[in-house]
Amino acid sequence: MHIVLPDPVKKVIDILEKNGHEAYAVGGCVRDSMMGKKPHDWDVTTSALPAEVKACFDRTFDTGIEHGTVTVRMYGESFEVTTYRVDGDYEDGRHPKDVTFTASLKEDLKRRDFTINAMAYNETTGLVDLFGGAEDISSGIIRCVGDPKERFMEDALRMLRALRFSAQLDFMIEEATLSAIKELSGTLSKISAERITAEMIKLITSDHPEKIEAVYDTGLSAIFFPEWDEMMATPQHHRHHCYDVGHHTIEVMKHVRPDKVMRLAAMLHDVAKPVCKKTDPHGEDHFVGHPQLGADMSRDILRRFKLDNATIDGVTVLVRHHDERPEPTKRNVRRLTSRVGADHMPGLLELKRADVYGQSEYKREEKLAELDETERLFDEIVSDGECVRVADLAVTGKDVIAAGVPKGPEIGRILKKLLDMVIEDPAKNDREYLLARIDEWKKQ
Ligand code: ATP
Ligand code: MG
Repeated sequence: MHIVLPDPVKKVIDILEKNGHEAYAVGGCVRDSMMGKKPHDWDVTTSALPAEVKACFDRTFDTGIEHGTVTVRMYGESFEVTTYRVDGDYEDGRHPKDVTFTASLKEDLKRRDFTINAMAYNETTGLVDLFGGAEDISSGIIRCVGDPKERFMEDALRMLRALRFSAQLDFMIEEATLSAIKELSGTLSKISAERITAEMIKLITSDHPEKIEAVYDTGLSAIFFPEWDEMMATPQHHRHHCYDVGHHTIEVMKHVRPDKVMRLAAMLHDVAKPVCKKTDPHGEDHFVGHPQLGADMSRDILRRFKLDNATIDGVTVLVRHHDERPEPTKRNVRRLTSRVGADHMPGLLELKRADVYGQSEYKREEKLAELDETERLFDEIVSDGECVRVADLAVTGKDVIAAGVPKGPEIGRILKKLLDMVIEDPAKNDREYLLARIDEWKKQ
């Protein structure tokens, strides 16, 4: 097995070796190279102690020095160089009590989570694969290094990491590893929201977001995302649907781009359906109000996941409007654009199309044709520069004040009224005309 190391990585390893230390590329970069994928970063593991690493290079940063990690700058790029270590006892299922450095590469590889992540490589020695990682890569298997139950008891996050790698790589989870996850899923409650969210985002933005089903099957979502379990357990009897809420949602996730906001919006668009479900006398299910309640629930869930406000706002606006289906006339699309915000319209159209693909084939062609027409009209509105926000009006708040309206809420009220008028008829977005309306309205 030959891996092409980038020049700066070769140089870092070479310098450490010339100074009498061992050094290898390790972990994700070795795994990805062996699979023919381009690694997004290269980590180096070394027998050198952190102080020795720092002595070998001109430019270093103490990124995680207490864990033995030094960042080395080489040819303008950064690399994390970490001293071989063994983790001390895990008393709380979260972090090791202490970290001990070791002179043995084998000990360092043994503490790593999965066989495919526990390989090292350099040009002097070639591949170091002590746990069958290469074989597991070729058979597409995620398998713990050592006893899975022990490994998950040390760090419960590894259970979710197993599912995340299985989604990113489209690998199966080996039997003993999977049954240990099912047995110990409850212990994920010891893990912080931030660490769980980081793995979940990687899972749902992967090429296989459908693996979120395994998060439910293993019992892990019950711990941090019980709303998902409700969705998986809610059938929907309706001619527009052929899946329960959970499986419909998975289909929708597969049909949007692997983008954080888009995949989260798809994941949450029907989150309120279990709460809103009402069955009519004919046995058909209805979910009145689920987009609005869903937007509120999404906000709470994403806050609990400790996501940033930009992400939360971007997702909730899509959830809130995902079910609006105005007849595609230019005026209706201007109104929709003004409610949603022009920036969110492409995402909303993408989500709505994906939503159709997650439904039964009943009226599918009509639904898609309606969305095509909505998109065409939206593109026209943009290219014609038609007014859809107060900021696009031919007058501003200053003009309203200059017309003699006292500062206060009346200014905003007048601007909103002008906007509504211009949305109805874009020809009215004319400065003289609008100034005349301000004059007329201020007297009322
Ligand atoms: P990615 O492509 O997502 O960065 P990665 O394999 O590099 O994948 P990281 O989370 O960056 O994953 O971790 C780097 C390496 O550190 C892993 O390949 C693995 O060897 C080890 N590792 C990371 N987290 C754990 C953990 N919780 N338990 C054991 N080993 C871990
Ligand atoms: Mg990494």
